Amino acid sequence: MIALRFPALLTELRRLLGDANILADHAELVVYECDGFVVEKNSPDVVCFPRSTADVQKIVTLCNEYDVPFLPRGAGTSLAGGCLPVGGGVMIVFTRMREIEEINLRDRFAVVQPGVVNVWLTNALKGTGFHYAPDPSSQGACTIGGNVATNSGGPHTLKYGVTVNHVLGLEAVLSDGSLVRFGGPVEDFLGPDLVGLLVGSEGTLAIVTKIWVRLTRDPQGYRTMLGIFDSVDDATAAISEIIGQGIVPAALEMMDQGIITALEQAFHFGFPLDAQAVLLIELDGLEAGLDEQRDRVLEICKRSGAREVRRADDPKERLKLWKCRKQAFGAIGRLSPSYCTQDGVVPRTKLPHIFRAIIAIGEKFGVRIVNVFHAGDGNIHPIILFDERDAAQVRKALDAGHAILEECIACGGSVTGEHGIGVEKIEFMSKLFTPDDLAVMRRVRDCFNPESRLSPGKLLPTAGGCGMEHKPTVQSKPGRRAAL
Ligand SMILES: Cc1cc2nc3c(=O)[nH]c(=O)nc-3n(C[C@H](O)[C@H](O)[C@H](O)COP(=O)(O)OP(=O)(O)OC[C@H]3O[C@@H](n4cnc5c(N)ncnc54)[C@H](O)[C@@H]3O)c2cc1C
Repeated sequence: MIALRFPALLTELRRLLGDANILADHAELVVYECDGFVVEKNSPDVVCFPRSTADVQKIVTLCNEYDVPFLPRGAGTSLAGGCLPVGGGVMIVFTRMREIEEINLRDRFAVVQPGVVNVWLTNALKGTGFHYAPDPSSQGACTIGGNVATNSGGPHTLKYGVTVNHVLGLEAVLSDGSLVRFGGPVEDFLGPDLVGLLVGSEGTLAIVTKIWVRLTRDPQGYRTMLGIFDSVDDATAAISEIIGQGIVPAALEMMDQGIITALEQAFHFGFPLDAQAVLLIELDGLEAGLDEQRDRVLEICKRSGAREVRRADDPKERLKLWKCRKQAFGAIGRLSPSYCTQDGVVPRTKLPHIFRAIIAIGEKFGVRIVNVFHAGDGNIHPIILFDERDAAQVRKALDAGHAILEECIACGGSVTGEHGIGVEKIEFMSKLFTPDDLAVMRRVRDCFNPESRLSPGKLLPTAGGCGMEHKPTVQSKPGRRAAL
């Protein structure tokens, strides 16, 4: 524990932030030893809850003085081990920097602290005619700081893009404790796009302490519908056809039979339990033309073999449908004690292939896999079910997940659409990028984070390594504990 190895650091942190904003007892730290990727665990030595940017600067400065690694954490919903404190050290948790500082409708921006939960901004904007577009399925828990770090997407990414398309400016503390601000309330195209660089850098370049986000006008109308299919191939054919016809739905989500069963048990929406796939399709925009587009989509679904199509024009039914979709992961708890959500991307036309490959991989490794996809943009989320207490099952789940990602690469896709690399997928970086590509990324990281004290062991493999190593700082907890 830091209390033993670095008593002076702990004393200074307590003096700086007050006892109420520090955790250092083993029992309290257990909560922070992993995030949504439960397969690997390592405890931080101390958890700090800053209440201001100045607090963050002071914590970082102290960590540098004591040569201790540190990393930021939002709500800990990362599914890739982004919050794993590799090497222990100081975890800076943003749940007490949670103010929406400004909402400016005339200039269409809002300013938030990083610990603001995504849905709080949605709720604050209700009735104003504007919204914040990125809406990860975890939006009821995840923070906007975490969204920025992982460049989060969500069901509406297909039409509205990912987080980087909605961030106008950032204030951030660098790894040496200095404070920078890039961008702000207005579109600013001066010089290199450093906002773009920081978004998606998974906390390895800087710690974000304030965010200026773009507000988007609410669409005039929505048309939400379901296509119910007896085969996944038919459902994926419908997806290709809808997009091929030049229709860009706001969302186009696919759920397979395993998920449908779990959802039905949880929400009793009336999904037919024998359906092999359900498409949730939402169109939005100007009222004029929406009905015509909806009819075209329904027609395409029928032509592609949908056995039933349903409309959810009633706002209450629409909300219920989205509740089902957004809580799909929660419903998995009915199927299995633990699960690992993969996050690959394939070209849309490869969806039938990857789906068949996932079934074959599940059979090969003897694991059950259920699927919920952001199908419109080819972003798959196979959910591998296992029991964390059984090492053999954990091994099989990891192997199956890796086999799925290998297949995504073979299809010309990628190993993450939105969850990031974290520690989970670090070894895949050298499969996706050449040594020269990785060397450039490392040089960029070294520019911002030369000692690698900030978020060590994440995102980028060390040259020739697997990412478990990082530059030798004093490590209080070097051992990562896999559940194997
Ligand atoms: C049920 C469920 C559904 C999900 N659905 C989606 C989805 O639809 N789309 C999607 O994109 N993701 C999804 N995710 C993944 C996850 O919610 C996102 O990656 C989210 O952005 C993480 O936010 P967080 O606040 O939990 O961040 P954390 O998990 O706490 O951190 C994630 C990463 O961000 C870094 N970080 C956190 N705060 C800061 C900061 N202030 N400055 C710099 N770096 C920081 C951390 O170090 C870490 O690397 C889902 C997860 C779950 C559990």
